[in-house]
Amino acid sequence: MAGTLKFSPDDRCNAFITTCAEAPFGEGVLAGTAVAVKDNISTAGIQTTCGSKILEGYVPPYDAHVVELLRRAGAAIVGKTNMDEFGMGSTTETSAFGPTKNPVDLERVPGGSSGGSAAAVAAGLVSMALGSDTGGSIRCPAAFTGIVGLKPTYGRVSRYGLIACANSLEQIGPMARTVEDASRLMSVIAHHDPRDVTMLDRPYDHQPVAGVRGLRIGIPEEFFGEGVDPRVAEKVRDAIGVLEGLGAETVRVSIPGMQYALAAYYVICTSEASSNLARFDGVRYGPAVDTRKSWHEAYQDLRRELLGAEVRRRIMLGTFALSAGYAGDYYTKAQAARRKIQEDFERVLRETDVIAGPTMPTVAFRLGEKTDPVSMYLSDILTAPANLAGIPAISVPCGRVDGLPVGLQIMGRRFEDERVIDAAYTYEQEVRA
Ligand code: GLN
Repeated sequence: MAGTLKFSPDDRCNAFITTCAEAPFGEGVLAGTAVAVKDNISTAGIQTTCGSKILEGYVPPYDAHVVELLRRAGAAIVGKTNMDEFGMGSTTETSAFGPTKNPVDLERVPGGSSGGSAAAVAAGLVSMALGSDTGGSIRCPAAFTGIVGLKPTYGRVSRYGLIACANSLEQIGPMARTVEDASRLMSVIAHHDPRDVTMLDRPYDHQPVAGVRGLRIGIPEEFFGEGVDPRVAEKVRDAIGVLEGLGAETVRVSIPGMQYALAAYYVICTSEASSNLARFDGVRYGPAVDTRKSWHEAYQDLRRELLGAEVRRRIMLGTFALSAGYAGDYYTKAQAARRKIQEDFERVLRETDVIAGPTMPTVAFRLGEKTDPVSMYLSDILTAPANLAGIPAISVPCGRVDGLPVGLQIMGRRFEDERVIDAAYTYEQEVRA
């Protein structure tokens, strides 16, 4: 039965930028289910800011494809979740609307950039949420808040209506408390859409199945190297041990291209972002500019005032990396490194069925703890490779260190999201039992 869901959450984590006090819902597989949507996914009639002052008050005239599908499935879209500005960050602290807090420990960050979606799910304010993942933005907050998050295969979920940060890397994906719910949400959002030309017609329609007998799990040494907290690594090894106990076979593998992953990611991501963000010029979006000034001056003033420091930094880095005379040294090299990483994953995934390791090198940081950009960028070391390779990757909770959640990351072959879901489901069912 269709109806209206009243929604007035106790949002002490600042998970939402916008809430819908009365959220309409329809009939379907998600009838009446409260779903939160990251604030870079267009929702007709509901403010969509990308966590930025430059889009404050912007109300999209149309729905993203995934939002159309949510509505068609009967879901109640109860609000838009907080995020690092334009998805640039791993903590949700770069949001222009204040940081989100981790419901597990309010002094800690929830991860990012989909930190609001993760906090809303972890705090029990909604059953499920959509996030987006360019370099880890679904999996990092899932790991830090102790929920499940899937970055689908590139090309499996339409990006139509997702306000672009880095088109060749990002995918929208499900976040939920259980693998089953994540899979249910994935079944709703993964349908072919000709408006996203990078999509393949490979709809996801799957019920998770437990069982890993004979599954070959690759364990890359690079995922347990320098910078990974040994206590986090131990929890992840224990989790892999659980899968071995159920009949999986582990194989030691190596992804040598990993050493270039972060550098390649940050060149490609900033290059694409600098070009995407050029449209926020105060003419089509943002408050009207002062017309007495020259266009150039007005554009500068507006962007200096309304874009945060991290966004401006990335626009400058990306513009530089693409500029004549330097593109060969940066952008082209980054693409070559990306190719090498893709080939490494393809080779390893010919000998194995999935790859497992930690999602994040550490547990959630304290709010305000990480101040320099490079140490923040380093925290993406284990998540960005799957975006560069375009492969599916899930984070599933696997215990705690100092009371803070740890995520087990399972990656798979392109368009084998089902296998990754099943492996995570098997682990989850085993440890819950
Ligand atoms: N932390 C990464 C970054 O800052 C990932 C962001 C994302 O996936 N949107 O780029």
